[in-house]
Amino acid sequence: MSSLATQLPKPLRKPLPLSATRARQNFKAELDRRARKLRTGHIPLQTYFERIGKALSSTCPTCGDAAETVAHYLLTCPTYSLHRAVHFRTLGFSGRNLKTLLNSKDALRPLLNFVNATGRFRQVFGNVEAPPDSDEDDDS
Ligand SMILES: [Zn+2]
Repeated sequence: MSSLATQLPKPLRKPLPLSATRARQNFKAELDRRARKLRTGHIPLQTYFERIGKALSSTCPTCGDAAETVAHYLLTCPTYSLHRAVHFRTLGFSGRNLKTLLNSKDALRPLLNFVNATGRFRQVFGNVEAPPDSDEDDDS
């Protein structure tokens, strides 16, 4: 470490990990990748596990009411009704439409925040919550 660096306050001595723009680009790419998994149904829901022979039943493990499909998880499972109300509220009626939820650019952030809040895929995807003040197009 140079003598100049040692004169800096301790929190400023470490090199900056990424530019904000680069971090935002990486985050968006990761969101896209995860939304693509939801669109294709290749996500660890019961219907997928049953299809690949990893589960005996496709029944939703949290409510037991229906097969746990992407549509059930995102639109109708009573276990997540509160999460749905909170995260899809800004989308209005679009938030009740699977096609819009999985394909609209505007829905990507609420969708991933919903997934994160439910904790349904935390073991597989880790934390996918959007950074609180990261705006989509403020690159400058
Ligand atoms: Zn359910």
